[in-house]
Amino acid sequence: MTFQADLPSISGHRILVTGGAGFIGRNIASALVADNEVRILDNLSTGSRSNVPEGATLIEGDIRDDDALDRATADVDIIFHHAALISVEASIRDPERTHDVNVTGTVKLLERARDESARFVFASSAAVYGHPDTVPIPEDAPTEPTSPYGLSKLAAEQYVRLYADLYDLSAVVLRYFNVYGPGQLDGDYSAVISVFVDQAANGDPITVEGDGSQTRDFVHIDDVVQANLLAAASEDAGVFNVGTGESVSILELAEIVRDVIGSDSQIVHTESRSGDIDRSRANVSKLESDLGFEPSVPLENGLETLSGQR
Ligand code: NAD
Repeated sequence: MTFQADLPSISGHRILVTGGAGFIGRNIASALVADNEVRILDNLSTGSRSNVPEGATLIEGDIRDDDALDRATADVDIIFHHAALISVEASIRDPERTHDVNVTGTVKLLERARDESARFVFASSAAVYGHPDTVPIPEDAPTEPTSPYGLSKLAAEQYVRLYADLYDLSAVVLRYFNVYGPGQLDGDYSAVISVFVDQAANGDPITVEGDGSQTRDFVHIDDVVQANLLAAASEDAGVFNVGTGESVSILELAEIVRDVIGSDSQIVHTESRSGDIDRSRANVSKLESDLGFEPSVPLENGLETLSGQR
């Protein structure tokens, strides 16, 4: 099942997707592989070989490795940079490693993009905002990340901006909110969805942390692919939120999942997680007006794509 809005046509290009063996990258690679030469640079630390779409070339290596970068970036026209350490918890345990992969790795890719005059699309995160003062969150809201992960994304974004200013690099930053869809890994962003779907499907109690009033903007992977293709096809620079512009509370999410699955699981409350962000919702008007984005997958429909795979 696909819900995609009209996607811009991108064809005849040599394209690199870093992190293309992971959840988001593989969906971008899949959307492009029929009409382009697609390479994936991935060290398979969380991604897997089976995610590499047929027709794409996997270069198994680290984004900080010069030989791997030589092979991955030769004569490339567009780089979608998605490889990263994405665990907030791991970043709190090991800030240095997170910085190394997410910041130094991005600078190395920016250097290659500069050499090749490639269009650069950078996967950033709503984690750059920390605890927002107001929702929906516009792109010019204060950025006060609460983890080394969020800070690494903000630092990498600033490098992207500086390369655009200093070296005229054609580059764009996409700040994803909570991306979900088939094939997502358990992680910080949308793991709650997989957990609820499993609990509802098994008839187990659905466990909501705290009172469930925390809100999130869950954006379906098809819409994230849409945003990436629009960003690559345009010459726009700058920073764009990628979400739906709508939010749902975790308690509402539990109820929707239960309905979609047709389960009679009870909803129970467990202890709340300390430091959790209370409210999150993207203002996506810039993405809509400048790039022509239209969120196309309502949450209920998106959840059906997940329940179908179980
Ligand atoms: P993922 O873990 O599924 O994908 C990341 C990929 O990068 C994996 O395949 C992994 O093997 C690879 N990788 C990690 N370190 C590497 C390295 N040093 N060299 C080469 N490859 C490496 O995560 P995802 O959810 O697909 O996230 C993709 C990007 O989107 C990340 O940059 C992440 O920060 C960003 N993002 C994701 C979400 C979300 O909701 N999933 C939200 C905001 C931002």
